[in-house]
Amino acid sequence: MNLYNIKENSEQVSFQQAVKQGLGKNQGLFFPDTIEPLADVNALLKQDLVTRSSAILHHLIGDELSAEDVSDMVSKAFQFGAPIKQVSDDIYALELFHGPTLAFKDFGGRFMAQCLAKFGGDKAITILTATSGDTGAAVAHAFYGLENIKVVILYPKGKISPLQEKLFCTLGGNITTVAIEDDFDACQAMVKNAFDDEELKQAIGLNSANSINISRLLAQICYYFEAFAQLPADKRDNVVVSVPSGNFGNLTAGLLAQALGLPIKRFIAATNENDTVPRYLQDGQWAPKKTVATLSNAMDVSQPNNWPRIEELFKVKGKSLSELGKGMLTDAETEVALKGLDDAGYLCEPHGAIAYDQLTKQLQAGETGIFLCTAHPAKFKESVESILGKDIGLPKELADRADLELLSKEMPADFAQLRELLMNN
Ligand SMILES: *Cc1c(COP(=O)(O)O)cnc(C)c1O
Repeated sequence: MNLYNIKENSEQVSFQQAVKQGLGKNQGLFFPDTIEPLADVNALLKQDLVTRSSAILHHLIGDELSAEDVSDMVSKAFQFGAPIKQVSDDIYALELFHGPTLAFKDFGGRFMAQCLAKFGGDKAITILTATSGDTGAAVAHAFYGLENIKVVILYPKGKISPLQEKLFCTLGGNITTVAIEDDFDACQAMVKNAFDDEELKQAIGLNSANSINISRLLAQICYYFEAFAQLPADKRDNVVVSVPSGNFGNLTAGLLAQALGLPIKRFIAATNENDTVPRYLQDGQWAPKKTVATLSNAMDVSQPNNWPRIEELFKVKGKSLSELGKGMLTDAETEVALKGLDDAGYLCEPHGAIAYDQLTKQLQAGETGIFLCTAHPAKFKESVESILGKDIGLPKELADRADLELLSKEMPADFAQLRELLMNN
């Protein structure tokens, strides 16, 4: 697989280089130079998740990794399913939260850990990542205890749910967590600063695990196929997928699945009040506002990092961005949507509820809708319980960590302090 830097097209890298480097020069994202459609999607849809995902990833990655290696990595990474649940006649929920940290980030995080373990060799590396809540947990659990890999995770202090925080800030060992006294965009900017610092990069073998890492995106392509594989055959023709979006990695992966030949009719990009993209799709002005805290905190992103990849994909496919559905919900509207879903017999959480709401509003007669349920409802226990007025309990993964002590350091959004921490880590 060859990739180029969207900002500096002359920078061309292999899959391995792209995985290890994370970002290209001038903070440019890597993008595949060709996306060859899969030969027989219907045959793939008959296979099980691991077999099919191995085939898709091998097709994309090419001979840099043998088919056996890829299937070994995939079977270690994807040890849980992605079931669809029917919510109404034409609407299905795709549940992406059955991994160890109860959010879709487990798919990408765990496959990325496999890639870095494979490509890493004996040199010690540091994974630096910013999280709006769920990436951090997935990355921390995927790398916890691996030799030669240190992980440093930045998150916005007080802006993620208490249980999200417990899930990854209580591990210790090779996992360092830092609560930044600012918002997610500030955390993301600090990570970018670190990647611009050549001396630091060399000294600590810096790598990133954000959704900007191509290995994470490729892994996420696979569950779109898994959703189709479970749909009744007569419902596969006019499928609309609604994606609750923050940094826009999930939607990028969906669009890549479509480019590989999965017959998705169209997508809806659903956001909370951090609606830079819906506004941009409406009026063509890229005008990020200050990030605001919402109920769907993993989407509190006003400068979505993956957006340039989506633009690039539409450009190379010769398609217009006007094909992309869009919509945003306020917190008050999110509460209404979550209650509506609960009344329909499906317990959800704010992120999934936003995608559901936009799907119900935009789905047309004869279409089948899938909305992505990106996290387990219990990850947002406090808000879900207060909105629905009932107790929803805790799954074991969370109950086990709920009483552990938080080990995070605190820091202002000051790169010099982060640099010092990284150098002495
Ligand atoms: C990360 C996350 C999102 C946003 O996904 P992107 O790929 O960043 O758009 C949505 N919901 C949950 C629960 C998340 O953790």
